[in-house]
Formats: sequence, structure tokens, C-alpha cells
Amino acid sequence: MSEIVNIPEIYGSYVFGEKEMRARLSKEVYRSLKRSMMTGEELEPVVADATACAMKEWAIEKGATHFTHWFQPLTGTTAEKHDSFISPQGDGSVIMELRGKELIRGEPDASSFPSGGIRATFEARGYTVWDITSPAFLYDNGNTKTLCIPTAFCGYNGEALDKKTPLLRSMEAVSKQAVRICRLFGDTQTQKVISSVGPEQEYFIVDRATYQRRKDLIFTGRTLFGAMPPKGQEMEDHYFGAIKERVSNYMRDLDVELWKLGIPVKTEHNEAAPAQHELAPIYNTANVATDENMLVMNVMKKVALRHGLVCLLHEKPFAGVNGSGKHDNWSLSTDTGRNLLEPGKDPQQNVQFLLMLAAVMKAVDDYSGLLRVSAANPGNDHRLGANEAPPAIISMFLGDQLTAVVEHIIAGNEESVPSTSIMRVGVSTLPFIRRDATDRNRTSPFAFTGNKFEFRMVPSSGCIADANTVLNTITADVLAQFADELEGAQDLREALRTLIRREMKAHQRIIFNGNGYTDEWLAEAARRGLPNIASMVDAIPELVKPDAVALFERHGVYTEKELRARADVSYELYSKTINIEALTMIDMAGKDIIPAVVRYTTELAASVAAVETAGGDASVQKELLTRVSVLLAQAHRALDALRECQRKAAGMTGAKQAHYFHETVCPAMDVLRAPVDHLEMICDSTIWPMPTYGDLLYNV
Ligand code: ADP
Ligand code: MG
Repeated sequence: MSEIVNIPEIYGSYVFGEKEMRARLSKEVYRSLKRSMMTGEELEPVVADATACAMKEWAIEKGATHFTHWFQPLTGTTAEKHDSFISPQGDGSVIMELRGKELIRGEPDASSFPSGGIRATFEARGYTVWDITSPAFLYDNGNTKTLCIPTAFCGYNGEALDKKTPLLRSMEAVSKQAVRICRLFGDTQTQKVISSVGPEQEYFIVDRATYQRRKDLIFTGRTLFGAMPPKGQEMEDHYFGAIKERVSNYMRDLDVELWKLGIPVKTEHNEAAPAQHELAPIYNTANVATDENMLVMNVMKKVALRHGLVCLLHEKPFAGVNGSGKHDNWSLSTDTGRNLLEPGKDPQQNVQFLLMLAAVMKAVDDYSGLLRVSAANPGNDHRLGANEAPPAIISMFLGDQLTAVVEHIIAGNEESVPSTSIMRVGVSTLPFIRRDATDRNRTSPFAFTGNKFEFRMVPSSGCIADANTVLNTITADVLAQFADELEGAQDLREALRTLIRREMKAHQRIIFNGNGYTDEWLAEAARRGLPNIASMVDAIPELVKPDAVALFERHGVYTEKELRARADVSYELYSKTINIEALTMIDMAGKDIIPAVVRYTTELAASVAAVETAGGDASVQKELLTRVSVLLAQAHRALDALRECQRKAAGMTGAKQAHYFHETVCPAMDVLRAPVDHLEMICDSTIWPMPTYGDLLYNV
């Protein structure tokens, strides 16, 4: 089954990228298009028409019949509306056509996408606008191929209705401020600073036939019942372990599909939990990386089905074993190719690095609530703050060496400089740092890893746009403050020294290199005054706090209206998710589990009667019957209680409803799960109405 694939030949063959553009566009059109990509200027109509025509021809040659504007609505998924290239002619024939207008702007009937009230249904128009910096691609869905045009989605007055628009705005904001910093250091070349992102994606793979017998996985993406199998992840034998053949065939196929799409996936390995794996692409510009990650998730699911497998992207598909996240690796680099988070080779660059470090420390400390909400989704509530990596408290890992440098700067003396990997630079009290990427701390939510920061709270199923929008904006804001102060300085060296020291001292509390899973850290974080926001519903208000609104408005990333809309959509999304989970539990418990256990008690009762009639000892059957009956009664009562509160929740709306779901419905679900999981462990396995954790986790 494994045919030989010529990777360089297939790589990017489904992307209308640089190579195709150069080959298919006239020099003038190509140059004009590239210029718009750089500057963000609007395309001239002739350029748009020529590009559309070339793109269409390329797509048709590859077998495409349709095109779509592909975008990321607030649901956190992707959306598309397919139009065929067909354009009827007067004489009853058709030609295949894609006009410039259709390429750069679409008008999907998108009234059913959540907008948080921005767009009442009577003004349902929304526009999709081509993001020319993200390449168009072909999506291969069996017999149909579709040309997908990555777009931003806005309302009639330009309000963002998607996740990409604010991300693009935040990229501009951080670029503008970071360029000011570059100028301070004598860099006159840099025109633009680019935020780069490399998301590592965790996922579970299960057998499709087994999956299909679990209503909870089908409807909610996670198991709502299920006792732990005899073996969990305690042996730690899965992480980086040998990959099973079926999974490795899947990964191989997945690689090929992603390579065709020009997505440079590089590493795959097993993760901590059984059946858990990870995929990492090579990093890219933030908006392109976001599009690629949406596509990666999509293709992962699609390819799995071909192999009789199902890919689970939920943050917590199984209780009791690790959940899944995304590590969002983020950095800033100049358009001349210099990474601003890379400790430099000379003292000058080093000071700039320390300034960037101070900026990120301040940004993360001042706006930790925004980072927290950017990583919140219903599934992540089961990870963050629930005794699993990472905790819900935002802190920053710098590693021993960099921490020592920070401490040294704060102390303001030479003595505390650690000797080995740090060279002192002349009279400057700012030390010289060498890159050290050896430190690893898997428990930290936000870690410096040599030349980038790694934000590890991001939910596995979510869209990384939110997190990167926040990272860019909070960094932009601090860099703006720094630039304001430094641009007016008489003595820049002195001003830098003062500022870096002052800010590192003010925000030192955000640094924590220890084990983030421990209770000691919870206590220590509380002592330091670091917020601990345990759940999504508690995080949502962070979006609309006055400081946050002012921040986003200052940098033109979100208006207050857009933020309020996002908060509303988040509450709604939360409530809908938990409601589906509650209804699924009610269905499974009421229709499958309780009836099966009732049949089992009947069997036991019959056995008791039969054995006693025959003069035997039925004490074991009797005892089992009693235990099962007690749990059955508990489950039945809990089911009634859950039904009752789900009904009550249905009559509520907004934040009140979301809180009710979180504070009342979720605990009621736990109360139902407990006796059912217990029953699963003591009942005859042949009567259990669905596959167990053991079947799901060890069956591929
Ligand atoms: P690790 O997590 O072990 O450090 P890697 O160094 O391979 O693993 O990087 C993980 C992810 O970070 C990859 O997706 C990689 O492309 C990305 N990455 C590497 N350098 C940068 C950078 N400068 N900016 C953003 N992402 C980066
Ligand atoms: Mg990593």
C-alpha cells in the first residue's frame, strides 16, 4: 500500500503559490500582486482579473470544478460556500469563469453564522475578502476538488465577523511598534516585523468501528462515561514509543496530503497518553500558520476515515489520561530576517533582546487575563486547572540561565552573574547571553525556548488566531510604551538600562521555573497575586474589562462592539456545548445504560432464585444484586436530576445560562457519571452497551 512518492514533486502541488504565480502571471501583474502582498494595498481590477483567470486555469487543470471563499467564523471552525466556475452563455453553453471581483470579494449568505448581535438578521450581509498573503489551495474531497480562497469575513461596516480579521490587524499593530524599537537600535532597513507561529498539534486516534458505537464521541467528541482500563498511562511507555503500523500508515498518508497543500509538517511522535500523537509543521507567518492549522485539523480527520480510524481533536476525550493541547510557538522577526527574540551575537543586539524580553514579561503579566481567555474553550476546562498540564495560572518559564540574568539585572550588580554561559560585556551592566535551549519544562503555560515563546494553553480543537491576536496586541502595546519613553531619551544607553531594570523588577513575579502542577505553586501564585481563572465562563469577562477594551481599541484590533459580540458568542458556544453533552448523557443513560443494567439485575435475580431452588448458596449473586441495585438507583436519581436542570437551563440565556450550565449542569453530569462508571466495573462485560476505554485506547 505504500507507493513511492516523489516528495519534491508533490510538495505544494495543490497550492497556487509563488511558483505558479510566477509561471502563469505576466511580469507586471506578478509584480503588482507582490507589492500588494507586501504593503496591503488594494489590488487593481486588472491585476485581480488576471490573477483570478490564472488561478482558475490552474485549478481546472488540476480537476477543480468549484471555488469557495474559505473563512473562519466565530464558531472556531472553518466555513465555505461552494460556487461552480460555470457561467452560462446566451446560447445554452457554459464557460468556466472566475472574475477578479469574485476572487477578491464574496458575499456569502452568512446570516446563520454567530455574530453576537453585530449583524441582526435584517442586515444579514457579510463580506468575505481575499487575504492575499495566504495562498489559495485545492481541497480534494474524493471526487470533487475545490479551489479554496482564504478570506477574512466582515460585516457591512467592516466589523470583524471572524477570527482572521483581528489577527491581521494585530499583526499590523505589533509590526508598527516593533519597527519603532528597531529604529532605536539604528536599524533603518526593516520595514515590517512579522509574527511567526508554529503550532504543535496533539490528537488521539481511535478505531472507527469502535468509535461508531460511542454516542458520546459522535455527538460531543469526548467520552461522557467510561471507567479507567486496568492500564492507563502509568507505564509511560507510549511517549516517543514505537508507532503502530496502522497509525504510521495513517501518518504517512496525512503527510502526503499536507505536503501537497504546501504545509511543511515535519515531526510526528506518540504523546503521553495511549493512542495520543502529535504533529508539528515548520512555522510560518501568523495568519498563514493559522490557515494551515485549520487545514491540518481538517485533513487529519478526513484522512483518518480512509484508514478506518477517527481522529479526535477534543481537549479531553478520555478522563484519567492526558488531554490534548496545542503549543503555540510564537516569535517576532524583521523582514530582513532577524529574529527579535534571539539573543544576539553582539552586545547591541543583546540589549535589544533584553528589551524584548522585558516587554514580553510586562505584556504577559499585565494582560494575563487576556491570554487566559484566548485559550478558553469548553473542552479546555477539563485540562486547565484540573490537575493537568498546564495549570490555569499564567506564568512564564525562562530557564535557569535567563532567570539568573534577569535577577542580575534587577539586583544591578555584577556579582550575581552566573559564570559559565554568560560573558560580561565591558562596562555595561547588561550581560551577554548565549542561546540555551536545553531547559525544558512541560508544566509551564508560557515558556521561552531559545528564540521563541511557547504558549502551551491553547486548546487542541480551537483556532489559534485568538491566542496570537492577543500575543501580538499585548506586545504591541508594551513596545509602544517603551518606544514612547526611549525615543525621547537624552542618553539612550542609560534610558535602556533604567527601563529594562525597572520593568523586569516590576514583572518578576510572572517568572516561575518550578513544577506548575503542585499545590505549592497554587499557594505561591496566590501570594504573588497572579490570577487563577479556573473556567471558561470565568475567563470570558476578561474580554470586556475596561483595560482590555482600551488596549484593543488603541491598536485598532477590536472595537468595543466587536469584543462584546465575542463575549456573547463565547457564552453561547459554551452553553450549547454543555447542553449537547447533557442531552447525550441523558440519552445514553436512559436508553442504553440503565436498561442494560436492569436486564442484568433481572438475570441476577433469576440466578438467585434458580440457585436457591436447587438448594445451592446464592449469597454472591445476592450481594452483587444488592450492589448493582444500589448503584442503579443512584444513577436513576442522578439522571432525573440532570434532566431537571437541563430543562431549567434551556429557559435561560447569555451569561446567566452559561454560568448555570457550568455551576449546576456540569456537576449534575459528574453525579450521573460516577455510579455508571462504577457499574461498568462490576457488571458482566457482555451486557455493557458500548465499548470501554480499554477497547478505545488499545484497539488500533
Ligand atoms: P520543541 O517544542 O521541542 O522546541 P521545535 O524546536 O522543533 O520543538 O519547534 C516546535 C515548533 O516551533 C515547530 O512548529 C517549529 O517550526 C516552531 N518554531 C521554531 N522556531 C520558531 C520561531 N522562531 N518562531 C515561531 N515558531 C518557531
Ligand atoms: Mg513544544
